[in-house]
Amino acid sequence: MTMITADSLPDDVATLKALVLAGQAAQLAAESKARNLEAEVRARTLLIEQMKFTIARLKHEQYGPWPEHLPRERIVYPAPAHCPCCGGDRLRKISEGLTETLELVPRRGARAGAVRRARGRSDEMAPTAD
Ligand SMILES: [Zn+2]
Repeated sequence: MTMITADSLPDDVATLKALVLAGQAAQLAAESKARNLEAEVRARTLLIEQMKFTIARLKHEQYGPWPEHLPRERIVYPAPAHCPCCGGDRLRKISEGLTETLELVPRRGARAGAVRRARGRSDEMAPTAD
């Protein structure tokens, strides 16, 4: 890419206007391409997550327990405090069953907004809402 210098720019307004418009069009095209590429990255990242999930599920089916590095979430359902037959409360623990399933937690999408506020001297500009 050749660097533009003031000496290399044309002097007539029509050509300069055309250059500005061409530059704006190129910028819009580049921004659109960047957004498409970002969406492509997100889609491929999700696909990778899904493939990792499938690999882990297949490994589990073939080799047994889930990999130890996976985070665990443990939900303990309370046992009834009273016997369902007679209503008695002299109960003791007789067993505990654990069922584990592999859950895919999709990545969260969110809109990130960046607000840039400009300040100027109030005597030089019209007032605006904060
Ligand atoms: Zn009972």
